[in-house]
Amino acid sequence: MSVDVTTFGCRLNTYESQVMRAHAEAAGLQNTLIVNTCAVTAEAERQARQAIRRAHRQNPEAAIIVTGCAAQINPAAWAALPGVTRVLGNAEKLQPEPWQAPDKLMVTDIQRVRATAPHLVANFAGRSRAFLEVQQGCDHRCTFCIIPFGRGPSRSVPMGEIAARCRALLEAGYREIVLTGVDLTSYGPDLPGAPTLGQMLRRLLAALPGLPRLRLSSLDPHEIDADLWHLLENEPRLMPHLHLSLQSGSDLILKRMKRRHSVAEAHAVIARARAARPGIAIGADLIAGFPTETDALFEQTLAFIDQAELPLLHVFPYSARPGTPAARMPQLPVTLRRARAARLRAAAAPHAARYFASHVGATRSVLVEADGSGHTEHFLPARLTRPLPPGHIQTARVIAANTDHLLLEIA
Ligand code: SF4
Repeated sequence: MSVDVTTFGCRLNTYESQVMRAHAEAAGLQNTLIVNTCAVTAEAERQARQAIRRAHRQNPEAAIIVTGCAAQINPAAWAALPGVTRVLGNAEKLQPEPWQAPDKLMVTDIQRVRATAPHLVANFAGRSRAFLEVQQGCDHRCTFCIIPFGRGPSRSVPMGEIAARCRALLEAGYREIVLTGVDLTSYGPDLPGAPTLGQMLRRLLAALPGLPRLRLSSLDPHEIDADLWHLLENEPRLMPHLHLSLQSGSDLILKRMKRRHSVAEAHAVIARARAARPGIAIGADLIAGFPTETDALFEQTLAFIDQAELPLLHVFPYSARPGTPAARMPQLPVTLRRARAARLRAAAAPHAARYFASHVGATRSVLVEADGSGHTEHFLPARLTRPLPPGHIQTARVIAANTDHLLLEIA
């Protein structure tokens, strides 16, 4: 084993794991496992600890380097695990130098970090789509969220660097780039001229006429700017897929979460997106069982899913994060949180079936991935009637919709 990487959590971690692998290999590390942790849920931390213990049991000689938000927030706890030889903070992990240094603990106070990571083309081996970090950190303080304590203040990658990184990814053969960050819609105020996310995207697409597909990761519905709306309506290379960080369908719970949008605003954003880009895919993050969520308040979120006909959901049972205000609120039983999460997923299922079926008969373009399947521009899983090479973008007619994928016929 030269350098292995185990990644937990978000697309940003997926991107950063590729950057770390390159640094570790450049540093000549051998027999090394990097564990890139996530602190969003207690379960994510439990799985990372389990992975470390298993790796140490199976290969006691291996060097285990722990990084990521959980390590950033509580480095000593991770350093104490069996087999762990180093803990690197979220700032250190993206720089080349710390990978050459001997120190066991290298974790800067992330609240003091102002710069974004230096440029490095990440190698998404076997993938046709590349993730690219354009924003880091978060200045909001949602009451359930530990991320700002692991990622620090919001900071943006300058426009010129983003364009250079995209060009390098296109030259490396990627056909779709997914822009990612901790709080993407917070892009820009720390840069000269304070460009918005939409303004950055407009300039990026103008600078890269050869970029076939640009996709956005999760967005705060309260912060979608006018330029982004304009692009959504008029720019075919911006994929028709919005994933919204909604979290709840109850105004009282949104208030207790310290979210910036209301239920009415969420409905308005979804309606506007569907008007701007008919057939657009709408996804959302929802938390089930937030502290103080009564049956009646929960029913509001259930009703929201039906009123908004939300097809694509990521549902998380609430997980108390030490140090967050919500963790000090009266907690609901874990079993109830999980049961509510299951009910939210079930409520979305008929909307998902109708949404998948709405594509039958239409022509869609599929970016082919390693195993011959792929995703459409709406980010729906797709299979083709005959195999094509990874990285190929194929336009074809949808002949069938199943619960979890579309079937497209190639003439
Ligand atoms: S916007 Fe809220 S949920 Fe998102 S990272 Fe920031 S604090 Fe966390």
